[in-house]
Amino acid sequence: MCENKVSYYVSRGWYPWNGCTGAKPYDYREVFVPCGRTDPHGERAICQDCQDDPDVMRDIDAHEETIRLDNQASHSAGWGDW
Ligand SMILES: [Zn+2]
Repeated sequence: MCENKVSYYVSRGWYPWNGCTGAKPYDYREVFVPCGRTDPHGERAICQDCQDDPDVMRDIDAHEETIRLDNQASHSAGWGDW
């Protein structure tokens, strides 16, 4: 993991308050997910730097369980803090 953030384009439909804003399904916005955390699609976000580094990827595999639990924690906390 590192300090990078991974950018995703997500529909405003991803946000719980969608429907109150009149946003259309094609109304996308960019969000940033810290490297190693859960992305808007429920996958793990890994920045390009880490993907390109075999040592980092091996370390990620070694800590798979820790990361999974961490992701669960972030789900529990909700996504409303950005
Ligand atoms: Zn990274």
